[in-house]
Amino acid sequence: TYVITQPCVDVKDKACVDECPVDCIYEGPRKMYINPDECVDCGACEPVCPVEAIFFEDDTPQEWADFRTADTEFFTEL
Ligand code: SF4
Repeated sequence: TYVITQPCVDVKDKACVDECPVDCIYEGPRKMYINPDECVDCGACEPVCPVEAIFFEDDTPQEWADFRTADTEFFTEL
């Protein structure tokens, strides 16, 4: 799955939402979240993010490693 990291916090540009073919990007209190059960790993959202917050989970920069599970946890808690 792809994940949305620190740069999205308090930004929530939402350019990614329009690109996602399966509409699996949702708005949370402080950032956008990708539902890992719905994401088809197409990568369309990644290049359109103006703050470069989106990464394939295994390519997440080390300093934002915590965000690899943030999106999964967000949907688990719903
Ligand atoms: Fe949506 Fe594709 Fe991004 Fe997954 S990788 S969130 S399916 S646009």
